[in-house]
Amino acid sequence: MIELDGSQGEGGGQILRTSLALSVATGQPVAIEKIRAGRAKPGLMRQHLACVNAAAEISGAQVEGAELGSQSLRFVPGPVRAGDYSFTIASAGSCMLVLQTVLPPLLLAAGPSRVQLRGGTHNPMAPPFHFLERAFAPLVRRLGADLQLALRRCGFYPAGGGEVDATIVPSADGLKPFDLVERGALLSGHAECLAPGLARHIAARELETLGKAMGWSGDQLRVGTARQNEGPGNALLATLAYEHVTEVFTAFGEKTLSAEQVAHALVRELRDFQKSQAAVGPHLADQLALLLGLATWQSGGAAAFTCSEVTEHTRTNCAVIERFLPVRYAIEEAAGAATVFANYRGVAAG
Ligand code: ATP
Repeated sequence: MIELDGSQGEGGGQILRTSLALSVATGQPVAIEKIRAGRAKPGLMRQHLACVNAAAEISGAQVEGAELGSQSLRFVPGPVRAGDYSFTIASAGSCMLVLQTVLPPLLLAAGPSRVQLRGGTHNPMAPPFHFLERAFAPLVRRLGADLQLALRRCGFYPAGGGEVDATIVPSADGLKPFDLVERGALLSGHAECLAPGLARHIAARELETLGKAMGWSGDQLRVGTARQNEGPGNALLATLAYEHVTEVFTAFGEKTLSAEQVAHALVRELRDFQKSQAAVGPHLADQLALLLGLATWQSGGAAAFTCSEVTEHTRTNCAVIERFLPVRYAIEEAAGAATVFANYRGVAAG
């Protein structure tokens, strides 16, 4: 039984999700105490409980402590089962985080899986659908597996109700790590505003402000056409396609923010990334660390990537992954970009 302190490092839900994913992927039971202990509402919230239940369903796990508010969990997985699954979060919690939990083990399963997800698709503090589709999924494919995502309906806070279909096909001969050190030349950049439940001028103002700051115009500024649940959601997305990687940055509208403030928040993120020479931004970094950890373990190899910022999420994720996989991470910070190295160690995990 691997024992983890859920309040270590960043101390949030990601420790739980990475632990569940790797417990199922490796077959090692895990006990987590002090789950989200430092948060305003500690313990398992609806979104986290949905992740526990989803991980249990794909592996027939025995679970203790799977209740709302619970700060301790014991999770004993069985073997991962490929198949057709449907996971719903009753609240507007992010169903993309449920995918973040079940994807790693399903990538290592014996056959393909289809996963239908319902809940929030564009939530603050979670990977938005378009980020997973354009930035993350191509990196999964580069490992030799396949991940296809289809957005049926957007779901925003507070109504939720979004729908996403994911098709996951493992690699026939195991995941292969790769280096992602250079992003290459910028090929294209564009923005889109999702705000179908709000007055039209909001999307127009967000896009106009962003366009002026980035020098984007015409077809580079788009009003999103995806179907949406009822409710006033607003996400402003920017996609930067480089030779070797695509990044997606997102700002979310709030009642207290003007359309111009939402656009400026996104411009700051874009400029920070463009100023760096890194291949990936701060969010893709913590998620790529897990993918490359799995591939390094499977192949017995090594991988490296550069990121514009090393967040506490990335550091904590690497520390949690090291508890499950015989992989060691090293982080070298330098002006312009930090480099994260993952190396297979060939020693027992635990
Ligand atoms: P908490 O316990 O703090 O409530 P949580 O369960 O909501 O946490 P975190 O532990 O904060 O979730 O993890 C959030 C995950 O979502 C991380 O992998 C992070 O990189 C990712 N993420 C957050 N914002 C974005 C974004 N704008 N684009 C892509 N990924 C994002």
